[in-house]
Formats: sequence, C-alpha cells, structure tokens
Amino acid sequence: MPLSRFPVVVATPRHAGLSATLDYLSEQPLAAGTLLRVPLGKRIVSGIVWRRALSEPSDEAQLRPVHAVIGALPPLGDAWMQLVEFAAGYYQRGVGELALSVLPPELRRLDDTQLLRRMARLRQGIAADAPLTAPPPLNAEQAAAWATLQAAADDDGTPTLLQGVTGSGKTELYLRSAQRCLDSGRQVLMLVPEINLTPQLEARLAERFGAHRLVSLHSGLTPAQRLRHWLLAHTGAADVVLGTRLAIFASLPRLGLVVVDEEHDPSFKQQEGARYSARDLAVYRGWLQQRPVLLGSATPSLESWAHAEAGRYRRLRLKQRVGGGELPDVRLLDMGRLPSPGGGVAPALAPPLLQAIEARIARGEQSLLLLNRRGYAPVLFCSACGWKSECAHCSAWRVFHKADRTLRCHHCGFTERVPRACPDCGNLDISPIGRGTEKLAEQMGELLPGARVARIDADSTRARGALERQLTAVHTGEVDVLVGTQMVAKGHDFRGITLVAAVNPDTALFASDFRAAERLFALLMQAGGRAGRDAAQSARAEMWIQTWHPRHPLYAALRRHDFDAFATSQMAERRAAGLPPFASLALLRAEARDVESAAAFLREATELAHGLGLGDAVRLYAPVPPVVSRVANVERLQMLVESASRKALQQALASWLPLLQELRPKHRGVLRWAVDVDPLAI
Ligand code: ADP
Ligand code: ZN
Ligand code: ZN
Repeated sequence: MPLSRFPVVVATPRHAGLSATLDYLSEQPLAAGTLLRVPLGKRIVSGIVWRRALSEPSDEAQLRPVHAVIGALPPLGDAWMQLVEFAAGYYQRGVGELALSVLPPELRRLDDTQLLRRMARLRQGIAADAPLTAPPPLNAEQAAAWATLQAAADDDGTPTLLQGVTGSGKTELYLRSAQRCLDSGRQVLMLVPEINLTPQLEARLAERFGAHRLVSLHSGLTPAQRLRHWLLAHTGAADVVLGTRLAIFASLPRLGLVVVDEEHDPSFKQQEGARYSARDLAVYRGWLQQRPVLLGSATPSLESWAHAEAGRYRRLRLKQRVGGGELPDVRLLDMGRLPSPGGGVAPALAPPLLQAIEARIARGEQSLLLLNRRGYAPVLFCSACGWKSECAHCSAWRVFHKADRTLRCHHCGFTERVPRACPDCGNLDISPIGRGTEKLAEQMGELLPGARVARIDADSTRARGALERQLTAVHTGEVDVLVGTQMVAKGHDFRGITLVAAVNPDTALFASDFRAAERLFALLMQAGGRAGRDAAQSARAEMWIQTWHPRHPLYAALRRHDFDAFATSQMAERRAAGLPPFASLALLRAEARDVESAAAFLREATELAHGLGLGDAVRLYAPVPPVVSRVANVERLQMLVESASRKALQQALASWLPLLQELRPKHRGVLRWAVDVDPLAI
C-alpha cells in the first residue's frame, strides 16, 4: 500500500518553533479534520489532519507514520478549521496549539475504543421533555424589531446589534430568532458571559425548545460532561448550544445563528493562552459562514456601538421595558453635602438612603447594595508604626476577611491568620481601613435591626450549590437586603427588588484604564436594571448612587438612562486620545524574576521592531508596569503597540513576534512573554 502524506497540526505552542503544519504518512486515506495521535520527537501527541498545508512540505526523509487514527470521532468541519486558523493568526498563536486547546480535554486522553463507547452512550439518560411553552405575543417594539430580523435573509452575515434596556424583551427576540433557525434545520449557538449567573436562561430555552435539544458548554462542567455536550453538538444531535466564551469554538456542522447576550461583557475575552474575544470571533464566524449574528446589550461595547453608528451593523432598539414597567429613578446622593458625622467616620450609607431602605423593608420589598470589593476591609493598618498588610509576594495589600480571620492576597492567594498584634512593633491596636462587602453586610445588620441581610460575592459562593441556594433565598423573599459585588448586578430576574444602591462607585471614575468609565456605566445600568422588574412595583423603583462627584457627566447620562449620550461623549474622548475603536492595540507582556530582565527583553524587542522598519506602521510605547506590578514574586512589565490600522498592526505583529522567540536564550531571567491583541485593559 503506498503511503500518502498529510498536513497535520499538533498541540505544541507556536514558540516551540515548529512549522504550523507537519507532514505525516498514512496508508489509509485521511479526511481533513480527522483527529490523530502522531509521534513528535520521543512523544506521542494529538494532532488534526488540517484542511491545507500551512508550511513548506516536510523533508521526505524525516516523515513518520501516524501513530493512531481516532476514527470514532467524525472529522471536524472545514468552517471550524477556518475559524481556528483565523483566530490563531489574529491572536498570534499556533494553529495546532489553539485547535487542540479548544477541544474538550477528554478528546486528547481517550483512545479510539474508549471514544467509540462514549459515542454509543451519548443519548442515554436524556429525559423526556416537559410540554413546551408557546411564545408570548410580542409587544409593539418587539414586533417592529422582529419584523426587521425576519426580513433579513438567513444567509446574511451582517451582524445585528440589539440595543435594548434591561427587561425590554431582548431574550424573547433571541428565542424567536432561534426558533426560526431551528425551523430551517440549523443549529443555534448562544453565548452568555457566565452561565452560573443566569440559570433562568437555560430554563427558558428548555421550556421553549425542549431540554433534549439543548446542551451547555462552560468551564463548570466535569470533563465527561463537557465531552458529552461537545459531541452532541458536533454530531448534530443537539440543536442549541448555550455556552460561555469557550463555546465559540464549538463544532456545529449546521450552524445557523450566533447570539451573544450582554455582548459588552469583559468575560467574553479570554485572559490567558490565546487571548481571544469570543464576541469578535462570533462576528467573524457569522461572516465566514454567512449566518446571522445577534449581539444584545443595554450598554453595548463602544466597538459594536460604533459599528452600528457607521451602518456596518444593523441596529435594533428596544426602549421600553416589557409590560410598561419604568426604569428606576436614579438619585445622586451628594456625599460632600451631607452633614458631617459626629464621630468623624463617614457612615456606610447616607441617612436618606438608609431611610429609603427601611421604608422598603416595612413594605416587604427588597434592596440591593452594590459594592465592588469583597472581603471585610481592603487593608489592615497599625496606627503606631504605619505597618500595612502588604503581601510578601505581590505589590498589593492583603485583604482582611473577618469570617475566617485571615489576611488574603487576591492576586496570588497567599493567606495567613490575622496577626494578634502588629508584626512590626507589637502594637495590639491594628485596625481595618476601608470597607468590603463583608463589612457592609455586618454594618447593615447593625443599622437595620431585624432585617434579613444576605451577601453574595466570590467568597460567599465558593461551595458547590451555594450560589443557587443564596439566589433562591432572594427569589423566595427570605432576604430584605442583599449586599453583593458585580456578581449580583448581572442578568438576574429579581422580582422583589425596588431599590438598588451603588455604595462607592466613584473609584472607577478616576481609574487609569481607558475603559473604566465604559465598564462603570455598564455595571450601574445593569445593576439599576435589577430594580423594579415587577412592573406593578416599578413606579417605586429607585437607584441610588453615593458620590462625591454628582455633576460628573457619566452620572448625568445614567440619570437619564441615556446610553447614547454617554457613548457619544466617550467616543469623542477616545477619538481625541487615539484610543479604540479609533486605534488598534496590542500589549506585549514580559514576566521575569526581576524588573531589569523584563525591561532588557522589551528593550531588545523594541530594537528588533525598529530594525524591521515597523516604526512607520505601528507605534511602540515605552514599557510600563501594570497596576499590580509584582504577583507571586514575578515582576511584570508591558509594552503598548498601537496602530491606526488593524491590518497594519496584524502585519507588524506577524513579522515581529516570531523573532522574539529567538531572544529567549539571551534573556534567561524572562519567565514568560505573551501578546494580548485588543487588550481589555492597559
Ligand atoms: P431582556 O432580555 O431585555 O432583559 P427579557 O426578554 O428577559 O428581557 O424580558 C423580561 C421579562 O419580560 C421576562 O420575564 C420575559 O419573560 C417577559 N417578556 C418578554 N417579552 C414578553 C412579551 N412579549 N410578553 C410578555 N412577557 C414578555
Ligand atoms: Zn505597628
Ligand atoms: Zn500576593
């Protein structure tokens, strides 16, 4: 039997210096997309027969035969491979590295026989569906938007931005679009920022389409579940995939629609490895396969908003809440004009806000207090010698957690019991400064005797099932006052909440990151959207903002629920400063044992770039430390690369980054380097 050669991508990082595809020999013909095991050096690694050769053919003499073919798995599709190829190029990673890393890990572990057995059991244990619920009739606004969606051809890759206030019925339009897609025999991919936070959506999909047609894909699944769900989608047995960012790489042979809910949410950007934006890849995937993409948000990302303004995206608006409920009345509480407290320390909540909460409790309504800082206090302080609870391994304070009396570093995890006395001078009087959710909840208990106070944040929800239990307690009315971080601001359909208060939002107004204002506005709009979801109570719904800057334009726009005014002013600032969406950015990060090593590496990288003549196409800034420069004893430096043109930036990175790999042996102190294309924060 003659041996033929096939281009294969393998699971090695691009910086290993291997070609993008390697040739392997096989007697049997191998379809593109077939999963394999192949020898690489002394190891056996996973590989995929690729859709085309991406490198020069390997030397005939060095060719080795395939080790094993995982024939149990139907080959991956061409569109899937194109998506991976694009993402690898755009985010500057190896094709094989990305391709294998986005498959369920079990696919790399199981042999052909084991996989065959899993495939045979795929449909076992799927319960019969409860009767499906019929869709509600649309209101006038929804109907108008739906008419436009229906008029668009189902092979039109132009994305649609569905800009609708919280509770305006966006999800209902996703469901209608999904129904239309299913009716045409195609699959739906629906991306959400975090599945755990929106169990209601999964339930709504199951009610409408039947649980047996639906699978979820997210990092909370066990490896076996993830494989099973992925296979159901890949084999076409599941029609609807609901997932987090990693689901953008789901294999969907009959993809007909991509929905991205809360498209502005930062969690769509992967923060390690290939730092892809699932939202942006969704748009690409729609374009690639000529399928509709629906991006929904009350506060779109400025990128998507700008595309809609420019007419590159279709835009649909929903301005009213379903059922005529009103958006909460936004009240700015001017902290600078409060009578100064007797004791000197400002209270957690200003008296008028406290009274408003008391009135809610008296009426049996709920209040939500938003504070984006977990723990009891952000730092412990010794008034005698000035000691602060610094982390020994990071340039950050360790946070005081009162419940288990620990000092915990939120960056490296370093945890110790709270010292009885100051470690430096022995002073017994060390005290917490500032306030986190734990302290706020404690203070609410004191200020509102008899009130049932609950707290939801990353600490309170660590145990399995804890979040569900806590959310249920809120939904069933066992809680009067809920204290929480941004976790509680997103998505929840709380019916009993009529007051939302942002306790200390000002810090984000003056943060150094250029997206801080955008994020704050989105968070506050979202949080406000938790109030008055029950139309009968919405007239009384209020959102309170405790601020020292009541005249800030961000708050002025928030008061009017006017996202477009906010976006317009942000766009003017971005344009003036040459920031996205008016420029394309990448961050080159270096991590080293000492700052000097990282700096030397980035210096030489800069010289290389200038040597290549990249200085005309892109602007290279001087390296700077990120906000927290040292984490777990590793020093970090980052360098901004900017260009007015996305394409110029892409080309520059593609020619420059491969050279950096060769610098590594000269810079032994550098532990890691990586590039982040379209970084969320700089
Ligand atoms: P959004 O996604 O914009 O926050 P939803 O689609 O979740 O809004 O709608 C908010 C609430 O209104 C949900 O409880 C939903 O079931 C309900 N709803 C949406 N559309 C309609 C409709 N046309 N008729 C009746 N109820 C609706
Ligand atoms: Zn001291
Ligand atoms: Zn630390």
